[in-house]
Amino acid sequence: QHFEVIAEMGHEQVVFCHDKASGYRGIIAIHDTTLGPALGGTRFWNYATDEDAFIDALRLSRGMTYKNAVAGLNLGGGKAVIIGDNKTPHREMLFRAHGRFCDSLGGRYVTAEDVGTTVEDMDFVHMETTHVAGIGSKSGDPSSVTAHGVFRAIEASAHARWGSNSLEGRTIALQGLGHVGTHLAKELHAAGAQLVVTDIDAGRIAHVVDTCGARAVALNEIYGVKADIFTPCALGGVINDDTIPQLQVEIVAGAANNQLLEDRHGDELERRGILYAPDYVANAGGVINVYSELTGWSRDRALRKADEIYETVLSVFRMAKSTGIPTYQAADRVAEQRINAVRGMIRTW
Ligand code: NAD
Repeated sequence: QHFEVIAEMGHEQVVFCHDKASGYRGIIAIHDTTLGPALGGTRFWNYATDEDAFIDALRLSRGMTYKNAVAGLNLGGGKAVIIGDNKTPHREMLFRAHGRFCDSLGGRYVTAEDVGTTVEDMDFVHMETTHVAGIGSKSGDPSSVTAHGVFRAIEASAHARWGSNSLEGRTIALQGLGHVGTHLAKELHAAGAQLVVTDIDAGRIAHVVDTCGARAVALNEIYGVKADIFTPCALGGVINDDTIPQLQVEIVAGAANNQLLEDRHGDELERRGILYAPDYVANAGGVINVYSELTGWSRDRALRKADEIYETVLSVFRMAKSTGIPTYQAADRVAEQRINAVRGMIRTW
């Protein structure tokens, strides 16, 4: 039955790993390596069942294939999950075991941090393998690259909607002023946008109010703000049955992962004429930063690659228009086109 699921979802390889000494149990899923080594983080989670862990590994690794492809990187998609309590203090044995299993794949899979894992955990992985990114000695904070990519996605959306990139005088409702949101606020302010912001952290709000002349609103008010653009940079699932009827914007474009609670919410935005810049296209600066660590690119080179998100978002919108599908589906099509083009080259080689 597992083979059927793997074949159905298109995975190349799924490895079940066990280390008796540490109690480590992990699954490494390689979805597609057409474009390059499968890159995706390691998630450490107390899954209710092994089946849940298996399905999550398959789903997340497939998502990475699309994300890396659409970002124009020479990387395939993969993901690992470790089953257990991610607060455990006994990490070295676990992550060294994980590193040995990653190493056994000979570079077909490259890991990094994800939910429940830290830079220190990746340093343990690095003791056993070089096929890891996001380690303490190398990684810079990715959030400025991510923020710049989101900024370019917002410009592209403005161009598609209003015929001009200019954000001068546009009102942007920005949810979440963490690593990405704070950098993004600065870029948007410099571009002349008026910011309406919210966060659960009063200090972060005060900083953005002071430095960017933003107006602050309560947490739940952000959805109903009369603005041009809603920019989610905090949590996933914020585009849902409760929030969509409140939205008074023409564009949704932000950094948060999995903004649509369900696919049908992407259809609903479309129905209401709200242009949605697909999250994994807009926030690809994160993987671009990891890629720059693997290739030794400078921060400037990474920022230039993140600049290309502008063109990618426009190509997604063009695909949506020409095929009559919502933008969240068009992003997948653009990714598939790139993979299929390379597959074609491999066949004729
Ligand atoms: P972060 O944890 O630094 O910031 C999140 C911010 O959201 C925090 O300031 C937090 O206080 C705030 N927040 C939490 N709950 C909130 C709520 N209910 N309402 C308003 N604000 C709330 O995270 P980040 O690195 O800035 O990432 C933001 C989002 O972008 C996340 O969804 C992340 O998965 C995604 N993302 C980040 C990167 C990156 O490079 N950091 C890359 C790709 C995607």
